[in-house]
Amino acid sequence: MAYQPLNQTTVIDYLKTRTGLKDFLSRDIELKAREVGDGNLNLVFFVTNAADETDGVVVKQAVPYLRVAGDSWPLTLERMRFETQALLLYNQLVPGLVPIVFDNDPAMSLVVMEYLGKHEIMRKSLVHRRRFPHFVDHISTFLARTLYMTSDMYLTGVQKKELQAKFINPHLCKIQEDFVFTNPYMESEENKWNPLVDAEVQAVRRNGLLKVCMAEMKEKYMTQAQALIHSDLHTGSIMLNVEETRVIDPEFGFIGPIGYDVAAVLQNLALNYLSHFAHTPDPIERANYQGYLLNTIEQIWSQFAQKFDNLWEHENNGELMQSKYWEFEGGELAFALFRQRYLERIFHDMVGFSGSKILRRMMGIVSVWDITSIEDLERRAEVERMAIRIGTRWLLERDSIRTMQDYLGIIKEESSDTQ
Ligand code: ADP
Ligand code: MG
Repeated sequence: MAYQPLNQTTVIDYLKTRTGLKDFLSRDIELKAREVGDGNLNLVFFVTNAADETDGVVVKQAVPYLRVAGDSWPLTLERMRFETQALLLYNQLVPGLVPIVFDNDPAMSLVVMEYLGKHEIMRKSLVHRRRFPHFVDHISTFLARTLYMTSDMYLTGVQKKELQAKFINPHLCKIQEDFVFTNPYMESEENKWNPLVDAEVQAVRRNGLLKVCMAEMKEKYMTQAQALIHSDLHTGSIMLNVEETRVIDPEFGFIGPIGYDVAAVLQNLALNYLSHFAHTPDPIERANYQGYLLNTIEQIWSQFAQKFDNLWEHENNGELMQSKYWEFEGGELAFALFRQRYLERIFHDMVGFSGSKILRRMMGIVSVWDITSIEDLERRAEVERMAIRIGTRWLLERDSIRTMQDYLGIIKEESSDTQ
């Protein structure tokens, strides 16, 4: 079928033409569809059994423009290929941590996947102070396995370059290059910010050293082909409940810097931490939940690093560097040192990317609901000022920030209740 955007009616007829969905469609049930895309880019349909809303599939289809910016901003339909490829690969590497893919149709630029009817978007749950006892374990496994197993430490040189060729994703990369690293820090018409923090925003835009650091992080994003990264792993791309975690929406996937994905998760938790200065007026309730978030941030890094190192130590199959290379007296120690130094570099990258990402949410095209849901603009500005100070320090001090204690210390030093 030639490309055409679906709607709530045509999506059901379309699904009936697909052979890959026999199990779901062969039953004699009435189907019902609704479009729910709250995302920035695509159409998302829930197609469910009319008698049971938890029984269904999700159809995600690209439209030929950037949804958040309207149809004046053209965007390649090919993006659904990257999402599909990444979801299929993630299903192999981390089964149970991503939705199952049932069908995909490149001509229609769509993918049909598992309907996560029992999972919530994490960003919303965090604003409501929910806790997820398995999240740290799940997300650190997701990060360690997807990043390690697509790196040069696990793949042969040929496999890695073939993977890289499949994930040349220039148009979606350009969106992040522009909207994370560039446009928010200069005049650009799509930028939005709270007028009450105008002075702070303008100060960022003329802070020469900060802009050098930002440019250095952009250079890393553009050139460090370390592993397949999700590249948009914020808490709106995570759906979960107390038992299960699923990562969705990997259409920005490409071979990029490992620290970027880790930063996305940690920095979104940090922003949520700050948002509770406004969302949670009761100081004890707030301190409890903020303590939970800081502990979560710390644990994600430490479990990620441990799992990544463990995979590397025991599944060192890749081009960089084979076990035989370390076979000499003292080689085991040298291999451990190589791994340690690599993880230290990832840590500094993670700190710098955290800075870039938190700042762009304060002054670029899209903010986050944790912040925009603070109705009182004055309260919101207080939280945003904290975020700007934290992001500035993470970027400027990224090379001297060595431990999670240092990283979290900056959050604590630059934030406090001002009510
Ligand atoms: P976009 O690429 O446009 O950002 P997303 O993949 O983030 O789209 O999806 C938009 C929204 O659709 C999500 O925030 C979520 O509410 C819903 N959604 C997406 N995939 C699923 C799924 N597999 N099951 C249930 N809901 C989903
Ligand atoms: Mg999304």
